[in-house]
Amino acid sequence: METSVPFATFEPMHNEIRTELDIAYKRVMDNGQFIRGTECRLFEEEFARYIGTKYCVGVASGLDAIYLLLKALGIGTGDEVIIPSNTFIATALAVSYAGALPVLAEPSIETYNIDADQIERKITKRTKAIIAVQLQGRTADMDRLNKIAANYGIKIIEDAAQAHGAKYKGKKAGSLSDAAAFSFYPGKNLGALGDGGCITTNDKKLADMVCALGNYGSDYKYHHIYKGVNSRLDELQAAFLRVKLKSLDRWNAFRQEVAKRYLSEITNPIIKLPLSSTEIYEHVYHVFAVRCEYRDELEQYLSHHGIGTVKHYPIPIHMQNSYRDLALSEGDLPIAEEISRTILSIPLYYGMTDSQVKKVIDLVNAFGTKGEK
Ligand SMILES: *Cc1c(COP(=O)(O)O)cnc(C)c1O
Repeated sequence: METSVPFATFEPMHNEIRTELDIAYKRVMDNGQFIRGTECRLFEEEFARYIGTKYCVGVASGLDAIYLLLKALGIGTGDEVIIPSNTFIATALAVSYAGALPVLAEPSIETYNIDADQIERKITKRTKAIIAVQLQGRTADMDRLNKIAANYGIKIIEDAAQAHGAKYKGKKAGSLSDAAAFSFYPGKNLGALGDGGCITTNDKKLADMVCALGNYGSDYKYHHIYKGVNSRLDELQAAFLRVKLKSLDRWNAFRQEVAKRYLSEITNPIIKLPLSSTEIYEHVYHVFAVRCEYRDELEQYLSHHGIGTVKHYPIPIHMQNSYRDLALSEGDLPIAEEISRTILSIPLYYGMTDSQVKKVIDLVNAFGTKGEK
């Protein structure tokens, strides 16, 4: 029988921990606290310990985590925030919601992370922060970014929504700058059974402020010191995340093993592979994105053979309708455009079988040999 390979599935992961998830659900029901109770507090402690920061504050989503950090850092109207041009739209939207202007800087075509060489020319008197997006599960060059930020007196925030457990020089993404934002959207390396997010930092004032801003600006019940919003990690999601956090390293190790096979066994010269882990960069492969001149043909060919793929991302931010106001057009950010045109993520998820991995490898290697392109 033909094995088909979905782009991703939660089933193998969730089947393993189903009993524990059921127990977590019952614990919350019995406890009767549903917002910012014991589970949230314990998850925040456990996640901060895992990442290696003093503080973690649960919020409602990754988007909110970035937005609330910017607000807590006092960034808003009239300010500029530099972000990579090939990130997920949420990075830009968070800047816009804060009232600031997202300034797009090109990524490196090798790493897909923001290119430190491109940043300085984007810095103006209004620049308040750079968001280092740890894209696809690999961190940016954090020493260089932190140095640029220190030279210009601006902040660095990590968007670590794709990098739970990734490391740079032995330290985890989320602990490599002033503060970091995480998403627990179900498909992330650590995902809830719904929406969720958090910030991590060593700065107590910043953590307290994000906590208050996400709770109607309240530091004490019915005392409102800021005009905040409602953005909290609920107890059920926190309880589920506590269960899943215990398996994160094992699940990431599995992803790394599949990635290792792809990196050594995909040998088709028309397929450009992503970077592997090194001593400095430990990649957790949130996605395994290849690039190919004949990307759309590759996508159709794999789909025809039962292999799911996703384009991360097909349209760069400056070419999205929602960001027409940036007044950029096609050709203005050629690296981001080149990546959007050629990138394709192939299946990579916990629980892929050897035969599924082999099927993907064999098909990718055979692409182009029979004239599909
Ligand atoms: C998923 C993601 C976000 C947004 O997270 P949500 O929880 O969906 O709001 C932000 N940035 C990046 C890079 C992401 O991948």
